[in-house]
Amino acid sequence: MPRSLDTSLEALPHVVLVGRMNVGKSTLFNRLTGERRALISPLPGTTRDRRTGTVAWRTTTFSLIDTGGVEAPPPKRHRQHLTASTLLAAPTVETLVEQQTETALKDANLIVLVVSASEGVLPQDRTWAKRLRGQSNALLVVNKVDNYRRAATVPDFFSLGLGAPFAVSAANGRGSGDLLDAIVDRLADLPPKKVTANQTMEPLTLAILGQPNSGKSTLMNAILGEHRMITSAVPHTTREPIDVLFTYRGQPLLLIDTAGIRRKAHVTRGVEASGVKASLQTVDRADVILLVIDLMRGVSRQDQRLASYMAEHRKGLVIVANKWDLVADKKPETMQALEHGLRRALPGCNWAPIVFTSALTQHRVPQTIEAALGAHTSGALSLSEGTLQQFLKTVTKHHLPMKGGGVRHPKILSFKQVAANPPQFEIVVRGELHPAYVKFLEHRLRQHFGFTGAPITITLKTKRRRIIK
Ligand code: GDP
Repeated sequence: MPRSLDTSLEALPHVVLVGRMNVGKSTLFNRLTGERRALISPLPGTTRDRRTGTVAWRTTTFSLIDTGGVEAPPPKRHRQHLTASTLLAAPTVETLVEQQTETALKDANLIVLVVSASEGVLPQDRTWAKRLRGQSNALLVVNKVDNYRRAATVPDFFSLGLGAPFAVSAANGRGSGDLLDAIVDRLADLPPKKVTANQTMEPLTLAILGQPNSGKSTLMNAILGEHRMITSAVPHTTREPIDVLFTYRGQPLLLIDTAGIRRKAHVTRGVEASGVKASLQTVDRADVILLVIDLMRGVSRQDQRLASYMAEHRKGLVIVANKWDLVADKKPETMQALEHGLRRALPGCNWAPIVFTSALTQHRVPQTIEAALGAHTSGALSLSEGTLQQFLKTVTKHHLPMKGGGVRHPKILSFKQVAANPPQFEIVVRGELHPAYVKFLEHRLRQHFGFTGAPITITLKTKRRRIIK
C-alpha cells in the first residue's frame, strides 16, 4: 500500500450532500460545481458511489462530495456493531455504500441534507433529519422548487427540525447562488485548521481510462489505499465517472475513474450510453490520462481508438500495463518483449511511458502516479528561443531540412515554443518542409529535452519568397 499517499482529503473543507434517492443530488452537485460532471439517470440507484467536485465561490474553495443514492443514513455507531461474522462475510454493495457514506459524514465540515419539494416530507427524509438534528454543521435544502406552487410547500420542511430550509431548483438554478453564499458563510465559521493553505493550489486532474475489467477501479483503490470505490468482476459496476480529490507529496490530485469507453456500436441505451459519453468528456477534463491495458487481453481496437482520441486531444498519457502478476513464465526479457508489442499496437503514442503493474497486488502502483506527475512536469517545460536556436543548429547540421516539394531546399527561418502544457512549437519556413522532417524534429526534441508522457504539436508557417520584379 502506498503509505506516502495522503488520502485524508484535508486540503479543502468538505461539504457533503446527503439524502434519499431521486431528490436531485446529482443535479445539485452539477449545478454547484458548475459542470455537467455527474451522470444523471432517472433510474433510482444509478449514483452508487461518492463523487467529489471542487467549488470556488467568492474567496473560498471547497470540496463537494455527493454520497450518491443512499436511502437511509448509516446507523450512528455502525463500526461498533461489526461482529466477527459480519467481518468475515463478503461485504455487499449496500454495506460498502453505507461504509463510504459513514466516512463521508465523518470527514464532513458541512452536511447538506437534500429533500424534494415535488414529493414533500417522506419517512426517509425524517430518518436523515433525525440523524443530523442537533449537529451544528447541518444545512437543509429543499430542491425542485421550480415554480411558485412548489415554493408554497417549503414551510412544511420546518417540521424536520433542521432550521430554515433553503429553497433551490437545481434544474433551473434558482437559489443556487444564495445556497453557495450560505455554505461559504458556514465554512468561514469553522476552526481555521480545517481550511488549509492548499485551497488555492489547482489540482492536477488524472483520469483512469480503459476497457471494462482492465482493472481501473482496482488501480484507483490501490492508489488511494482505501476502499472508497466499489470494484467487482462484473463490468460496469462503476457506471459513471467518480472524482476523488487527494494529495500526493503535497500536490493536490483529482482522480477520475470511468466505466471505460466501449465501442459505441455495442452500446444501446440508458446508463451505458451516457457512460460512454461521460468517459469521452472525461478525456477533455483531464490533464493526464492513465490508459489501463489488460496484459491478458492485449491492446484492443477500442484501446487504439481511445489512444488516438487522447493524442488528438493532446493529453498527457501514461500506459498502465496491468495484471503483470498473471504473466506466465516471466524471464528477464519478458517486459521488453511486452513493451515492444504494446508500442507496435499503439504507434501514435510512443512518447508515453509504460508502467507494468499489478493493481491487485499493488505492485508498482506508486510508479503510475510518479509517471503521471512526470508527464505533467515535462509538459510544462518551456524552452527559450536561444535554446531552440542552438538545438536547431545542431540538428540541421547533420540533417538538412527535407523538401516537401519544389526544387529548392526549404529554409527554417525560426523555431519557437509558443505554448506549454501541452507543449506547442512553431516553425516558420521558407519553401516546403517534408512532414517526415517535422516528425524527425519532434523525435529529436524528445531525445534532447525529454517530454516523456507529454504530447507535442509542431505547427508550420510558410513564408513565401518575395518576388522582385
Ligand atoms: P474495471 O472495470 O476496469 O474498473 O475493472 P476492475 O477494477 O473492476 O477489475 C476487474 C477484475 O480484474 C476484478 O476481478 C479485479 O480483481 C481483477 N484485477 C484488476 N487488476 C488486476 C491485476 O493486476 N491482477 C489480477 N490478477 N487481477 C486484477
